Order: sequence, then C-alpha cells, then structure tokens
Amino acid sequence: YKPLSEVDPVVQNIIDKETWRQFSGLELIASENLTSLAAMQANGSILTNKYSEGLPGARYYGGNEYVDELENLCRERALKAFNLDPNVWGVNVQPYSGSTANFAALTALIQPQDRLMGLGLPDGGHLTHGYYTAKKKITASAIYFQSLPYALDASTHLIDYPSLEKTAKTFKPRLIICGASAYPRDWDYKYLRKIADSEQAWLMCDMAHTSGLIAAGELASPFESCHVVTTTTHKTLRGPRAGLIFFRKDVEGAKDLEKRVNDAVFPACQGGPHNNTIAAIATSLLQVASPTWKAYAKQVIVNARTLAEVLVGYGYKLQTQGTDNHLVLWDLRPVGLTGSKVEKICDYVGITINKNAVSGDTSAAVPGGIRLGTSALTSRSMKEEDIRVVGEFLHRAVQLALKLQKEAGSKLIKDFERVALTGDGEGAREVKV
Ligand code: PLP
Repeated sequence: YKPLSEVDPVVQNIIDKETWRQFSGLELIASENLTSLAAMQANGSILTNKYSEGLPGARYYGGNEYVDELENLCRERALKAFNLDPNVWGVNVQPYSGSTANFAALTALIQPQDRLMGLGLPDGGHLTHGYYTAKKKITASAIYFQSLPYALDASTHLIDYPSLEKTAKTFKPRLIICGASAYPRDWDYKYLRKIADSEQAWLMCDMAHTSGLIAAGELASPFESCHVVTTTTHKTLRGPRAGLIFFRKDVEGAKDLEKRVNDAVFPACQGGPHNNTIAAIATSLLQVASPTWKAYAKQVIVNARTLAEVLVGYGYKLQTQGTDNHLVLWDLRPVGLTGSKVEKICDYVGITINKNAVSGDTSAAVPGGIRLGTSALTSRSMKEEDIRVVGEFLHRAVQLALKLQKEAGSKLIKDFERVALTGDGEGAREVKV
C-alpha cells in the first residue's frame, strides 16, 4: 500500500499535469463536470477488488454482504434523486457507461432488426440512438437494429414533432428514443408519448446531458411519459463515469420489464459490476439530494443563458438563439470559421470546448459550430459576472481565429502553432493577452 507517487511517478506526473490543466483553464465541454473529492475517493477505493456478478441477494460469488448493502443504497438514492416511487420505478445501477446503458436498454426493449427512431446525430442526437452514415452502419444501435433518424425543424431548429409523427406512421418503430447530446431546448415528452402510443412503440429517454437539471426540477421530467430512462452519471449529475437505467415496473403487457432490463445489463451486455464506481455514484446522488443541488442546477442554467446573451450581444448566431439547459450551440458558419479552428485556438489559450455539428451541416468531419456547457464552471462557483468575462474571452478567441485565417489562409493552424510555441510575433502577443 505505497502511494502512487512512489510506485509510479510517471503516471502520478501525468495526473498532476492533467489536474493543472483542468483547474488552470476554463472547462466548457458540455458533457464534462468536476466530480467531488468524496466521489473520487469512493471511486478509488478497495471496492475495485470485488467481483459481484448478479444482483443484491442473488450473486454468483461469495463475500458480497457489503457490496449488496452498497448497491441497494445506490438504487434507493437513485430513485430518491428523481423523486420516484419505488413501487412504480426500479433502477439498474450497474452500467459501465452511458453507451452500455443504452445498448442494454435496447436489448431489453426490442428484438434484433426491430425498428427504432432517434434524433439524428447532425441535429444533436447521440451515436447510440441508431446513428449510421451513408457509407456504413458505424454504431451497434444501427448494426443490430433498423434505425431511422428524426430531425429538427429547418427554420426553428426545434424538434419537428409533427414530422416525426408522420414518419412514425409509415416507419412503424418499436422504439422511439428522445434525449440528445447537443440540443439546447427542453423536450415535449407528452407529445412523444402520444406518438409512441399510436404506434404501440416504447418511449425511452436518454437524459444523459440534463439529468442533474431534471433531478433539481429545473427541466421537464421524462419519467411521467417514458417507459425507460437512461442516463450517464458524469455530466450535469456530476458523478463518476457510469450509467443508470430506470424502468417502469407497472407497464401493462410488460410486467417483466424489470427482469428484462436487469438481464440485459448482466449477463447480456456486461460482466461484473464496478463496485467502486457504484459507491461513487451513491456518494454523488447524496449530493444531488442535498438542498444546495437545486441552487447549483439553477445557476448552471442562468450561466448558460448569460453566455448565450453575451454571444448574441456580440452579433453571433446560436442555434435557437438561446438555451433552456446547460449548453449553447454556436453556429460559426456566418463568420466563416469551422468548429475545429476555434477549438484549436481555444486549446492554445486554455479554454476547452468541442467542435460540434450545427443543423444543416453538410460534413460531419468539418462541423460548422462549437458546443459550450456551463456545468463545470458552475461547479467552480462561477456566476453571471464571471461568465460574461468568459463570453468576452470566447469572442476574442474567435476574432483572433478570423485574423489568423485572413493572414495565413489555409496555413492558419501551423503558423499559429509556430508563433504560440516560439512566442514570436503578433499572434503570440495576442495569445498572452
Ligand atoms: N448518451 C448521450 C446523450 C451522450 O451525450 C453520451 C456521451 O456523451 C452518451 C450517451 C454516452 O455516454 P458514455 O460516454 O458514458 O458511454
């Protein structure tokens, strides 16, 4: 039991550098957050040693009395965090990540080659919602199921529910997936349930991005309308990297949904649960149930709105010109920049963002926008006044990118790298400002 710094100073050094990077820069990736020290301690605990295939009270290995206690506690806290009646809802807390949670949910709900519909990736959907390209079925959700994306309305950039309804009538999906990775507005779950019911389809919500805000009651709840709800635990929920699957216990004609979901997680898709991670989820969910969580979630949204206002104030175009949640989608096409260029420039100045497709993008490889999120900065106690400064930094980064683009043309990044690394020239001075 020697410390990491003694046993492996090389890995310790990498962790130290990454710690410095995370706290010296501005973290604006919408899918990231800053997990608490308590949750990280649970995640790094001795629980990683234990095998516990199965469920509490029914394991394939001995020695699980404390692990059973832990998993039951985590399940209780997960239901409590979303204010769910344990007689109506159950939860599986074992998925290793959001992707495996989603694939297990599909395995539980539909048969191979059944049809499903999810929001298209270029419109903000996630890979695991049935994404495929013109050339290839690149995700398991498209390889093992037949999928058809639904889309945003081309002018409002909101989910085009009427068109989804129309397409569902002919495509006849067995499952409709709602939830997204890059959609700044809230969802009409009731409308979606109406569409699902008219096709006798399941309705599943992947609330990975917004679950922390939903737990706080700051966004509409998918639980009233959906049969199954999945989430990651590390985005707005601020826990370790993992997934959860909530399932209704009282679905007419599918009384076995609980068994179907549990069997789909193990043995269909996974092996032994990661008990250290389950402990960290439990600790994070305790924080979600605390009175300060609502204030955090509220501030995340206020900060995202403030960021949107600042950028619109500078004359930039945002998808839907604002936000209801933690993220802002910035369409850079009107200023003539790609998302990759701005991502790169921001990397050099300590602002971490990601390039992202915006509605109408013709190339997924060179997306025309960037996605910004306020969860991590809000975890660092930033308020509106801080976010206004961040908005100004972003504006300056874009102006710098435009300037370099004008001067250096297609050599932009190479030249910028040179000046940034050597410290020469106007570019370098700009970077230091
Ligand atoms: N679902 C949504 C909506 C996501 O945005 C993501 C990841 O960003 C996932 C699922 C996948 O989660 P993970 O990376 O934990 O597999």
